[in-house]
Amino acid sequence: MNGNGYMKSISYLIIFLLSVLNVSPAYTEMTTSIPVLVYHEIVTTDDREPNEVVIKLDKFKEQMDFLAEQGYSTLSMDELVEFMKGKKSVPEKSIVLTFDDGWKNVLNAVPVLEQYNFKASFWIIAGDWFGPDYMDWAQVKELDRHPNFEVESHTVTHPWNKDSNLLTWLDGKPLGKGIKDVKYEIYESKKILEGQLNRPVKYLAWPCGWYNERLIKIAKKAGYQALLTTWQEPSRRGDDIYQVKRLYVDGSCSMEIFKRILAEGKPYNCNEKNISITAPVFKEK
Ligand SMILES: [Zn+2]
Repeated sequence: MNGNGYMKSISYLIIFLLSVLNVSPAYTEMTTSIPVLVYHEIVTTDDREPNEVVIKLDKFKEQMDFLAEQGYSTLSMDELVEFMKGKKSVPEKSIVLTFDDGWKNVLNAVPVLEQYNFKASFWIIAGDWFGPDYMDWAQVKELDRHPNFEVESHTVTHPWNKDSNLLTWLDGKPLGKGIKDVKYEIYESKKILEGQLNRPVKYLAWPCGWYNERLIKIAKKAGYQALLTTWQEPSRRGDDIYQVKRLYVDGSCSMEIFKRILAEGKPYNCNEKNISITAPVFKEK
């Protein structure tokens, strides 16, 4: 067999293997990694300094314009999970848009998302602590009724204190806090949202992205089918659906940096006051 014949048989072998594995070459060209972007507040006033959790509406719109121009497809949570499990192929340019905390000003994003028919998920703090800065139940329900939007859980009270959060409670700190409080946040938020939305709630995002193996176990038992972190990487096919990675979009970064976040799949920190982007993932055993 000469060199050419050898190469030919190798390529036949590859084609044969691909067909046996039911993988067409077109399929392998499909994306294997998806940026799941995290936004928090979408502001219209000049008195708010943009940072990792605050972005001006103009800049947000510019980013969405870019995604639309580039032909990005937005995915629902179900679609993302199916992709990660390897059960669904998705367009090469796919992206997931998530909005944490249920800020009222996030409603500023809705007309922009609607303009492009973009899908998005809104991660709601289910407790009755809504202040004027947060959406009320009528607004939350209206979002959930939207065919392209979904509302998911972000616990009951969003424990955010470094010394008093889901992780410290697991260890009985501070005094008086324990596993029952952890379970309440995880189980009760699901129950409250399901009562309000009249449908099963399948997904949870950890407050501040803080979690560990024990919390994952509790959340699985509560019935959640995927869990969102702020582990700063794109989500890939075959990744753990109970540790979905997401990328912060720092509102103080330029459009050039936004493009780099998408292309490189890593976050950029453009404001020295940011804390979450630079902080290591808080993921204790
Ligand atoms: Zn949050």
